Amino acid sequence: MTQPLLSLVSVSKTFTSAGRKVHAVDNVSFDVTAGECLAIVGESGSGKSTIANMILGIYPQTAGDILFRGDPLPARRELVHRRAIQLVQQNPLSSLNPKRSIGASLRLALDVHGIGERSGRWNRVGKLLEEVGLPAEFRSRSPAALSGGQRQRVAIARALACQSELVVLDEPTSALDVLVQARVLKLLNELRQKRGLTYIFITHDLSVVRNIADRVAVFEKGKLVELSSTETVFTNPQHPYTRRLIGAVPVVTAEEAALRGRLMEKSDASA
Ligand code: ADP
Ligand code: MG
Repeated sequence: MTQPLLSLVSVSKTFTSAGRKVHAVDNVSFDVTAGECLAIVGESGSGKSTIANMILGIYPQTAGDILFRGDPLPARRELVHRRAIQLVQQNPLSSLNPKRSIGASLRLALDVHGIGERSGRWNRVGKLLEEVGLPAEFRSRSPAALSGGQRQRVAIARALACQSELVVLDEPTSALDVLVQARVLKLLNELRQKRGLTYIFITHDLSVVRNIADRVAVFEKGKLVELSSTETVFTNPQHPYTRRLIGAVPVVTAEEAALRGRLMEKSDASA
């Protein structure tokens, strides 16, 4: 069997706030295979962003190990890990410096990780922008001058700038309207194929994952309750909580509507 790109082994995160313990992530284990898109879904507060933040090393786990290519990631990530694992957040403005041009932000990522010859980096920035469907001239613009969808494209370009392998996307399309959302999802699919990337795609909205994920990990209150292929999650969900989430997804075809009825009965029976 091939080694997973990333593994979480019995990972937990407990926060203490106002003297009370919150088990944000509770003894979670799963593998991510190179080249796949694993979706993480669950309602708000189910621990999704906490998982993203632990994978990125933004804060340490309380217990368990996070392995990258079989080796435990150190609490203080090395440059090689910070290059290989990238985060795209819901609000790109929070990660783009408003005082820097878009080109300068992308250029900085190339400089930090020493990507390409110095003299060719400005050119490379233009190519990166074109790769995410933006004109190279956007290099000189400030983040504030862009629409939400364009900014998210820039955030994706920055995540790709340093030739990352694993991109953790935390609600990357949740702030965008439906049409823009569809275009960004299409772009993400194309980039994954072209670059052979691995995605962890986090969303509270199960309907978004249908066209992007290979497998879906379902979280309820910090616990992993189901990990199935996308097909299984939509046609034969195993856990009552998954069935409830499916019940909230807009119906697309008559076939699905019929199936939905059967799933709901199953859900009632197990409630
Ligand atoms: P999600 O991304 O699924 O909405 P989060 O991972 O953000 O969920 O949060 C999971 C739980 O952990 C929630 O109960 C949240 O209030 C709590 N939590 C998250 N971050 C912190 C923090 N920095 N301090 C205290 N509690 C936190
Ligand atoms: Mg979140």
